[in-house]
Parts: sequence; C-alpha cells; structure tokens
Amino acid sequence: MKAAILTVGTEILFGEITNTNTVYLSRRLNDIGIDVMYHYTVGDNPGRLAEMIETSLRDCDIVITTGGLGPTQDDMTKEIACQVMGDELVMHDDILESIRSRMLAYKAVMTDNNIKQALLPSRCRVFYNDAGTAPGFALDRKVCEDGSGSDRRQWIACLPGPPKEMTRMFERSVMPWLEELTEGCLVYKEIRTFGIGESDLETVLLPLIDGQTDPTIATYAKNGECSVRIASKRSSREEAASAVDEMIAKAKEYIGQYIYSTEGEEFPVVVGNMLMSRNITIAAAESCTGGLFGASLTDVPGISAVFDRSLVTYSNQAKMDELDVKAETLEKYGAVSEQTAIEMAEGVRLKAGTDIGVSVTGIAGPDGGTEEKPVGLVYIGLSLSESVCGEKDGMTLCRKIDRRIKDRQRNRRHAVLSMFDMIYRNV
Ligand code: ATP
Ligand code: MG
Repeated sequence: MKAAILTVGTEILFGEITNTNTVYLSRRLNDIGIDVMYHYTVGDNPGRLAEMIETSLRDCDIVITTGGLGPTQDDMTKEIACQVMGDELVMHDDILESIRSRMLAYKAVMTDNNIKQALLPSRCRVFYNDAGTAPGFALDRKVCEDGSGSDRRQWIACLPGPPKEMTRMFERSVMPWLEELTEGCLVYKEIRTFGIGESDLETVLLPLIDGQTDPTIATYAKNGECSVRIASKRSSREEAASAVDEMIAKAKEYIGQYIYSTEGEEFPVVVGNMLMSRNITIAAAESCTGGLFGASLTDVPGISAVFDRSLVTYSNQAKMDELDVKAETLEKYGAVSEQTAIEMAEGVRLKAGTDIGVSVTGIAGPDGGTEEKPVGLVYIGLSLSESVCGEKDGMTLCRKIDRRIKDRQRNRRHAVLSMFDMIYRNV
C-alpha cells in the first residue's frame, strides 16, 4: 500500500512550527509496511488543498492529512475532503454528545464552534479524539482506472494538527483501522543500544537486514543513540509477536553487548528501575554536565527511593569543598583526569552514604581543549560499595571517552548516557 502525507497549515510554510507530524507519521506507516511515497505541505487555502489531495491520490492508495480540522475559519480540511471524495458533511449526534460531555467535564460552555465539530462526512469512519475536541475520520472513494470497469478504492484519513491529539488518535484508532485495511496485525519493538554508531550497527546486522521481508529490521539514530526497530505483520497478534521476539533473539547474537533495552525504554528508566528493583542507592557528582544526569534520573517516577543527590561541582574549589577531592590531585593531574573522576565518585558516595557514586568531568567544548586534553575528553567515575561489588572497602572504576567532537550539547548528552551505561554494565 502506498501513502502520501499531507500536512495542512500556513504556519508550517512560514517556518513558524516544525513539521513533526510528518516525521511521526512516516515512521509509523513504514513500521507497518505502508510505503510513504510523498510528503506534501499546503497552506490554509481551499483550492490548493483540493489540488494536493488529488495529486496525492494520483498514485497512492491513501493520503493522511493533519491540521485544519478545527472549527475556525481557516480550518477547511473536512469540507475539502468531502468535496474531493464525493460526500457531504452531516451532523453526527453521537459525536455531538461526546463533545458535550467532554465540555461538561471541563466545565466549559458549548459554543457554535463546538457544535460544528460534530459535522463530519456522512459515510466516514470516525476517529475519536481523547486529547481534544475535533474528531478525525477516514473516507473512501472508488475510482475506475482504466475504463475496464474494475474499481480501485482510495482513502483519505484526516487527523487533527496538534501533535498530542494526532499521535493519540493515530495510536488508538488509526493504527487498528490501517491494520484492518492492510489485513494484518502489526507488532513492533525497539531495541535501544549504546556504544555503537549507526553505520557500524547496520554493518553488523547486515546478515539480518539483507533480504528481510517480515519481520522488517531497520536501524536509526536519534539524539546520539542508535536504535533498531523490528516489526512484523501477521494474521494474528501472537504470530507477529513471536516473529518479533525471534528476530530480537537473533539480533542479540550480533549486538548483545550494546543493548540496554528491547522494549524501547530510555536509559534513565532502565537504570532507575534496575536500581529500584535491587534497592541500590545512588549519588552523583557532576562537572561538565551541570546537573543533566540528576535531571534525567529524576524523570523516572519513584526514583526518590534510591536517588540521594547530584552535586554540581563545577570549579576546583567546589570539587574540594563538596567532594574532598585533593588539591594535589587537581594540581598534578588536572580537573579533567582519571584521578579526579575517581576521587569525585568516591567523595560523593562517602558524603552521601549511598551504595554507589557516579561522577563526570570533561571538556564539553566547543573551545578550551589542548593537544593533551582535547575537546570531547570525558572521564566517568563509578564508586561501588562493598555490598554492591563484593570487594572489601568497595572499588572505583573509571572510563575515558575521547570523541574529538566539538559540539557542546552532544558531548554533554553523550557524557550523561555514558554515566548510565557505566552503571548499567557494572552494577
Ligand atoms: P485546532 O482544533 O487546534 O485548530 P486543527 O486540527 O485545526 O486543530 P491546526 O489549526 O492546523 O489544527 O493546527 C493547530 C496547531 O497544531 C498548530 O498551531 C501547531 O502548533 C500544531 N500543528 C499543526 N500541524 C502540525 C505539524 N504538521 N507538525 C507539528 N505541529 C503541528
Ligand atoms: Mg485549527
């Protein structure tokens, strides 16, 4: 099945908003084996919108639109979709009722504009909106292609513009509908990795990627991490799930040492849950990341059970005052060194009285590097108590990262991920 994505909104053309809807829909459609052939964007203009829907459907089976579903003057997707697909807007009483009860729940007054939202094509399939009021819908038409009399069906699916509403609707209602349409159940999982680049990942997995039909397996990079998506479409959910699990088991043989989740979870969640389930307490000492590690870890619900503190010790003085890093160490080896990282990790663990202490010190850039200590040089320290590592008086490990990357944000983000990786691999 071939698809086009058509995003509607003049503000997208003005560059005022980032077109995240297209990215999201492309990924999800590809996941279920629908080929996305075109991305189009059109402003809030009825003539051009109608033209773009026709253009999209010229060689695609389905066009998915986002935006312009609201009740205001500039929202016209419903009207134009009806016009192109040969239908008309009628009042859907059940939708009107659901909008009314939603407004009541929010103690808001029902306006004419809200009533207008219950006007939908007469023969459409409705997608309810549980994050807003404008419902989405799908509508089909039959086209006779070659004069032979054999009809081809085409669809338009119209979804709201706000990403939260669109994604909720897509996952809950559109996905099952597409599965019906393409006759199959899709199961999809994401393997998350750290410590391997996308091209290496692809090269290593090539025996699995080459000649794949189902499950499909694909690598992609996002925010400095690389993931592998595995998707299968079969006649039953169970069949698809076991095909995906089999492929995950195979992938593990190739990239097992880099995997930290086969359920698509983020690193802080994986590590946070690991610490909580084993009741291992943690404190951190951060220099170049300025608190990013603590911020990421505190994204995890319930983490207060094990997370004690993260001290931001940026200056040498702070490292000495807060963590008892020795002046001689800083003088002899410098703030960005294995020795300092180790003393920071030990210092914060002892101060906080936790089971583990993790530290980071590095040169984030873009400037400030030297021949000996280039931008991107980062040391991660990990101090483990006896109860965690089994060694008398505990032990402290250190990892050196030398990436020669000048981008400050990338270096800081990578340093935080490395801290999680260090804990994940050693605790
Ligand atoms: P509403 O009922 O809120 O008017 P709508 O379906 O009519 O919703 P639009 O008016 O086109 O949608 O867009 C509403 C908002 O949704 C935009 O201001 C923008 O913030 C967001 N939005 C719209 N299209 C996109 C897109 N392609 N990518 C990301 N965000 C978008
Ligand atoms: Mg609108």
